[in-house]
Amino acid sequence: MEDNCLPGAIYVRRVAVKGLVYGGPGVRSWTEIPAPVIQEPRDVVIQVDAVTICGTDLHILGGDVPEVAVGRVLGHEAVGTVVETGSGVSGITAGDRVLASCISACGICRFCREGSYGQCLGGGGWILGHTVDGVQAEYGRIPFADQSTYKLPEQVSDEAAVLLADILPTSYEVGVLNGRVQPGDTVVVVGAGPIGLAAVITARLFSPAHIVVIDKADSRLQAAKTFGADTIVRAGAEDPLTAVRALTGGLGADVVMEAVGSPQTFELCTTLVRAGGHIANVGVHGKPATLHLEDLWIRNITITTGLVDTYSTPKLLGMLVAGQIDIERMITHRFGLDQCTEAYDVFADPISSGALKVVLSR
Ligand code: NAD
Ligand code: ZN
Repeated sequence: MEDNCLPGAIYVRRVAVKGLVYGGPGVRSWTEIPAPVIQEPRDVVIQVDAVTICGTDLHILGGDVPEVAVGRVLGHEAVGTVVETGSGVSGITAGDRVLASCISACGICRFCREGSYGQCLGGGGWILGHTVDGVQAEYGRIPFADQSTYKLPEQVSDEAAVLLADILPTSYEVGVLNGRVQPGDTVVVVGAGPIGLAAVITARLFSPAHIVVIDKADSRLQAAKTFGADTIVRAGAEDPLTAVRALTGGLGADVVMEAVGSPQTFELCTTLVRAGGHIANVGVHGKPATLHLEDLWIRNITITTGLVDTYSTPKLLGMLVAGQIDIERMITHRFGLDQCTEAYDVFADPISSGALKVVLSR
């Protein structure tokens, strides 16, 4: 019998469904997994309607996130239809179309009470596709569902909404707000993947004078221009320091965001920032980077790091509905769920594929 999750219909659970399983560094497969079930009263199970792949998934596959266990179902960015709710769920019911956030929140602990959901002490935080099975699958279990999902208004498409599960709040909170972008600033974004591009989109909300984007992939630099970058710099072919100094009278940038996650790019950021400026690290790092305090101690630099909290998701959803942010065109490639491994290949090789964000749909 087919699964059916229309309102009022009976959900018939399958024994096994398919999902993208991590098999250790470099190894992943689309294979049978046990069907997700309600384990705690605050869980829901969703049928995954649209899901995407994150640069963080590539870091996991690169061995940079060693706490991810072999056998884990990956994925932390999805839109789905609720098929089953635990007894402790009050705000959503079967049939609701929801955004499943990359961050789950118990809502009760000290950090959740401060809106720092990423640091949840009650079993939430970044758990999906990390410490519990994720949503690159036909079905997914979403813990603390009342605090970890958002009902979607009809006018927001699955494809636009899925970009709000992680990349938009991450770029906005960890990049733009932590970096304190101000009107008139010169902002540098290192890395023009989906995170870097979303940083360009959300930095523009604050009217910076100039946005410089640095990447190795020409297709991504061209995309950065269409999203609002004023200057693009091809890493390896041009010197970012010369370009940024030329734009700032030799001072350096007011805000530099690291959106790659490598020692070289972090160290590059510390050379591009002006005295008194901000470096907002967004990238996930698996290797140590050198902090040149012998140069930096005298320069009044603020360095921030952060896991996204997703406190801005309701605001970003509102901006999406109001047409203030145009993000859907970031999706360059579309796949069926069962083409997941192909989608990984395309996303992992943007230089030849030209991929920005890939979406897999049911
Ligand atoms: P991505 O892999 O699609 O993009 C990374 C980009 O960096 C690519 O375009 C690549 O060409 C570019 N790049 C690689 N080496 C470079 C170099 N030496 N110089 C210039 N550019 C270089 O990843 P994404 O999805 O855009 O994510 C970006 C980073 O943000 C990743 O590290 C990801 O793990 C991280 N992230 C952090 C959070 C958080 O909460 N802090 C959340 C989501 C993603
Ligand atoms: Zn992510």
